[in-house]
Amino acid sequence: MEHHINGIALPNEAGFFGEFGGQFIPPHLKEAMDEINTAYEEIRHTAEFQNELNDLFKNYVGRPSPLFYAKRLSEQLGGAQIYLKREDLNHTGAHKINHCLGEALLAKYMGKSKVIAETGAGQHGVALATACALVGIPCEIHMGQVDIEKEHPNVVKMKILGAKLVSVTQGTATLKDAVDSAFEEYLKDPKNYIYAIGSVVGPHPFPKMVRDFQSIIGNEIKTQANERFGQHPDYVVACVGGGSNAIGAFTAFLNTPEVKLVGVEPAGHGLDTDKHSATLTLGKPGQIHGMACYVLEDEKGEPLPVHSIASGLDYPGVGPQHSYLKELGRVQYETATDQECLDAFMTLSRVEEIVPALESSHAVAWALREAPKLDKNIKIVVNLSGRGDKDSDYVAEKIGL
Ligand SMILES: *Cc1c(COP(=O)(O)O)cnc(C)c1O
Repeated sequence: MEHHINGIALPNEAGFFGEFGGQFIPPHLKEAMDEINTAYEEIRHTAEFQNELNDLFKNYVGRPSPLFYAKRLSEQLGGAQIYLKREDLNHTGAHKINHCLGEALLAKYMGKSKVIAETGAGQHGVALATACALVGIPCEIHMGQVDIEKEHPNVVKMKILGAKLVSVTQGTATLKDAVDSAFEEYLKDPKNYIYAIGSVVGPHPFPKMVRDFQSIIGNEIKTQANERFGQHPDYVVACVGGGSNAIGAFTAFLNTPEVKLVGVEPAGHGLDTDKHSATLTLGKPGQIHGMACYVLEDEKGEPLPVHSIASGLDYPGVGPQHSYLKELGRVQYETATDQECLDAFMTLSRVEEIVPALESSHAVAWALREAPKLDKNIKIVVNLSGRGDKDSDYVAEKIGL
């Protein structure tokens, strides 16, 4: 039921969420995507797949992740009660492991010989390398040479985990070029290879599959909220880059209108500058990476350069389901600036001794801003998508510690 809204399937047979989503790709690639979709729909309902994935979630990732009442923080703010959904406590430190395990397992069940992906800052690469090694399938990660030099710890981790790392030197040697390079490799043999997308983006069926694997977050929130305070939360809040942790947290509540859903985008240096990544807030409907969605683009339809203090959030597109939920008005999309995000990072670290990822700090920033305006019995669940170890050096330098 949660994959419908107002009686409309999310997505429909052709992979559309309203006018968003779909497959804007060449015919040979469409064939490969359709094959993945058919296999996914067959495999995902089998007891064998379900049992193996659930066992990994429980005994490897450590699910369910706790729902923690941030009592000190809530009392200090003097308004609504803030609860943290601790995806940062998952093995590998973020929500990404949820869909990477799903994708790696699907690849194994489909008999694929190699999983291919690109990575920007390396977070998707590390989660995928982990999942593939565990499931026992070779993994090849394409990464821009510039990013390789910047993200040393993640590069080393991927190598230790046994992934093949391909350094991309074409173009600007960053994420966009890594995507092109990884796709080129995938198209050499789409029958035997599979591409593992790192968020709820790209052509159908990826926005659906990644959503399904992440929806465990919201399912757990629903159960935990009931156990803890005997009702649904009043708000569920999450940061939005491509949108996977947010859609994971929201899905269980889509048809429960009394639960307000809030997605927080990066306002970077400010919405009135050209240094932000607020795709849903300031973009318009367009196409990118094989899907229709909100896009930040120039007059010629070229994606604009985007910026966020959190490297996991700077993407000029956004998941098609979020684009649709915005049009429906079911989710409220807000923003937080780099500065608010730094403040939230430090506040949560100092008040609750939990160091959030800079990505997650956007959702925390919204809660810090809004909680004081709300009544004391209101309950806000913030999805803490990842831990901030990877960002600590940067923040310490930035604020002069
Ligand atoms: C990658 C990442 C994100 C952004 O991705 P979504 O698909 O928007 O969830 C958010 N938080 C963390 C910790 C990440 O690693």
